[in-house]
Amino acid sequence: MDHQHFEEYLLNDTPIPREEQSAFDAHLKVCSSCAALAEVNRSLKHVVMAAPAAGFATRFQVRLAAQRKVQKRRHLFGLLILLLSGIAVGGWYALPFIPTIFLSPADLLTAWAQTLSATILLIETLLNAANVIGRVAVGFISPQFFALALGTLSLFIFGWMISLQKASLPQTI
Ligand SMILES: [Zn+2]
Repeated sequence: MDHQHFEEYLLNDTPIPREEQSAFDAHLKVCSSCAALAEVNRSLKHVVMAAPAAGFATRFQVRLAAQRKVQKRRHLFGLLILLLSGIAVGGWYALPFIPTIFLSPADLLTAWAQTLSATILLIETLLNAANVIGRVAVGFISPQFFALALGTLSLFIFGWMISLQKASLPQTI
């Protein structure tokens, strides 16, 4: 058997006929070119075997769908939190008016104006305080101390807001 004959088998990746197998094996030992071709064919078969297992695309699609579901749920959760905090803030502002719903419109307007002016005053004070603190602090106070001061200030303001609301309730009743 000659080289050309086996090379054709190898190039077409044709299975070697059983009666030529021993002659083929013997030829591979003496012909580096055919041995290399045989090696390439073997490697290519391994690559095919290493291809994704059956059902890979399906599993990938299922996982992708699950991930999208989680993402959607997360978006919904965020939206819910936003809505709840919106309701909470709205409720905080509406609370002083709840007892006044049964009062005359004039009283309602007065109560509303009181809360509005108190809120504006609060914001003004906050801005002034932040301005002063900013001007004083930026120069020499460390960021840690600044954060601590800001936390204390916000706690103080929170307490003030609660006392302000408590004070505004008896006025409207
Ligand atoms: Zn050969």
